[in-house]
Amino acid sequence: MSIPNYPHTQLLINGEWCDAADGKTLDVVNPATGQPIGKVAHAGRADMDRALEAAQRGFEAWRKVPAQERAAIMRKAAAIVRQRAEDIARVMTMEQGKPYAESRIEMLAASDIIEWFADEGRRVYGRIVPSRNLAQQSLVHKEPIGPVAAFTPWNFPVNQVVRKLSAALACGCSIIVKAPEETPASPAALLRAFVEAGVPAGAVGLLYGNPAEISSYLIPHPVIRKVTFTGSTPVGKQLAAMAGQHMKRATMELGGHAPVIVAEDADIELAVKASGSAKFRNAGQVCISPTRFLVHNSIKEAFTSALVKHAESLKVGDGLTEGTTLGPLANSRRLEAMAKILENARATGAKVATGGERIGSAGNFFAPTVLTNVPLEADVFNNEPFGPIAAIRGFDSLEDAIQEANRLPYGLAGYAYTRSLRNQHLLSHGVEVGMLWINQPATPTAELPFGGVKDSGYGSEGGPEAMEAYLVTKTVVTTMV
Ligand code: NAD
Repeated sequence: MSIPNYPHTQLLINGEWCDAADGKTLDVVNPATGQPIGKVAHAGRADMDRALEAAQRGFEAWRKVPAQERAAIMRKAAAIVRQRAEDIARVMTMEQGKPYAESRIEMLAASDIIEWFADEGRRVYGRIVPSRNLAQQSLVHKEPIGPVAAFTPWNFPVNQVVRKLSAALACGCSIIVKAPEETPASPAALLRAFVEAGVPAGAVGLLYGNPAEISSYLIPHPVIRKVTFTGSTPVGKQLAAMAGQHMKRATMELGGHAPVIVAEDADIELAVKASGSAKFRNAGQVCISPTRFLVHNSIKEAFTSALVKHAESLKVGDGLTEGTTLGPLANSRRLEAMAKILENARATGAKVATGGERIGSAGNFFAPTVLTNVPLEADVFNNEPFGPIAAIRGFDSLEDAIQEANRLPYGLAGYAYTRSLRNQHLLSHGVEVGMLWINQPATPTAELPFGGVKDSGYGSEGGPEAMEAYLVTKTVVTTMV
């Protein structure tokens, strides 16, 4: 596969690409080699001020563009993204590590998401309410909330941006994206498509820098009307508190710890195939990754040996090398976290059925790992591992499995495998999550609500609910005189 040149990533302010006013940059590192591959501009206060002024002007211009024209511009951006999907995917793999095939799917999915929201923007309807007085007309308008500040993480550099960006633009909002410094070039390529497609200057902006510095300046700023964040629960709670203090609407898509309940009557082959490939996708650095495998004791051995076989069949390597199915972890913090999880698992009596070690000394490679006999108190069963580790425990009754699924404060995704309608009914009513996938891996398409409950956050990034997040409701009652 041809290795592209890694681009220098700039800020996008008022429709123009620029370096930071003070010239500051950060290094970008390839997680497969540990070597620097390029630089990204690091915004300071002056850059943020310019981005905010532009977002205000961009909002005033964009909200006046009729929904149909907005949709046409967004569809043009989607076509550009689709046309460049393979080039951008290669860059994404260089900066993030995931296998090229996964990066490519992420880019194609981005086009699909843009198109779905473009069309949904044409269906933002208000309503007419029958008035109590015939001389009155009572209307309910839906209006764009205003300039948005979006904060996105490094695990899906494009997908995490495109859901926020597309919903905001479809509603007529402008948006400043604070994209991930560790994986900056692919989200910049996404925004470039919107600029080229013809969004007005300032309707989309892009910043990189110190995440805490940027969020603590943008969130309270009067220009910003809506905050949206994807990342860890502790950071989400801080940002939600700040948004609350300044009465800013917020969407929080935070961590999870997805249970996978494999019932006595499950199709084991399907359960292993679907949950095994979902588990090791993006090296497990996925907020909806299956993490707590709860398997009926009667089939636990068969399930475990098949999952181990699956893990051992994966080809670990540089994501740009043909045939790689598991890339490196995206940064060295994840490698350290995996070592700690394994140390704790071994100390608490879990058995390492396969993997459990770093691979090599260059790059952030970690072997696909399956842990069995994991005690409930083990760290891996309580804190989101965010890595290529599957932890298995047995259960005897489905009620116990549901109770365990609900034990943690998280409630993002859940999975279950069962052929029985009764079990499906119990699971769909009993498991406290925002999304439950039964007899299949997750298929988080644009038209479906995407979000969590409990400490996994609030709000949705899919379906019509995702549009609501960027709209305000205005009641207008007129008496004819
Ligand atoms: P982290 O918790 O420091 O950062 C998570 C994300 O939040 C990063 O993108 C970071 O840039 C951003 N962030 C951090 N502090 C911020 C602030 N004050 N204002 C705005 N943005 C801020 O740690 P990390 O090492 O990058 O990731 C570790 C954990 O984060 C993972 O274990 C996982 O639980 C979680 N995470 C979740 C997702 C997700 O999709 N929900 C994605 C990435 C990371």
